[in-house]
Amino acid sequence: MVDILAFGTHPDDLEFGCGGILAKMANQKKSIVMVDLTVGEKSSHGTPSERRKEGEASAKLIGAKRVFLDFPDAEIYDTYEGRLKLVKVIREYKPKLILAPLWKGESNHPDHLACGMMARAACRYARFSKILPDLPTHRPEGILHYLGYNHDGLIDFLIDISDYADTWKKMMECFQTQMKTINYIDWNLRHASQLGVLINKPYAQALTKGNPVEIDDLLTISKATQEI
Ligand SMILES: [Zn+2]
Repeated sequence: MVDILAFGTHPDDLEFGCGGILAKMANQKKSIVMVDLTVGEKSSHGTPSERRKEGEASAKLIGAKRVFLDFPDAEIYDTYEGRLKLVKVIREYKPKLILAPLWKGESNHPDHLACGMMARAACRYARFSKILPDLPTHRPEGILHYLGYNHDGLIDFLIDISDYADTWKKMMECFQTQMKTINYIDWNLRHASQLGVLINKPYAQALTKGNPVEIDDLLTISKATQEI
């Protein structure tokens, strides 16, 4: 049983989309498994073995386990077979919470949307005993989605990652093969800085929910809804 299982499509997606959040959760002693659906073999830069090493080095910084699946880069579609691959991972690690890319709207890479959709389906299928009946079922407590640069209108939750920005930066620095054309580290820090303004913190990263959030005591969230 792990606390968080985070699905990314290409090695570095998790770092860019929710690396600061993962660093914060790791600091809170949460156990984390980072799962990349591909090794980014269609990327213009970096070989699969380089991408694996970069991903493993980043995960090591926060004590997370990194797993690479065998989906074909740039050919990811929401299929039943694909969903089953994710079900197997969910049943193996039994996470409380699943993180995945956004599953709807536009994305800078269509693989990301397919990954998000399959993660949502697999989260549900993982509890169905007649799907892959040889593997014990597992019901995650929930699923949240990290966002891309063009998804700020969909923010449901902002996580203050200011104290973990250095660790996050080191995680992103592991992916030197991906810094050939754009300085993604600077780009991501600038985006996190913009999000941080919304909660008056230096840096934040955002999540969105797929399902309504049940609340018993409104006072437990009242401070979080405070206008700045
Ligand atoms: Zn990607």
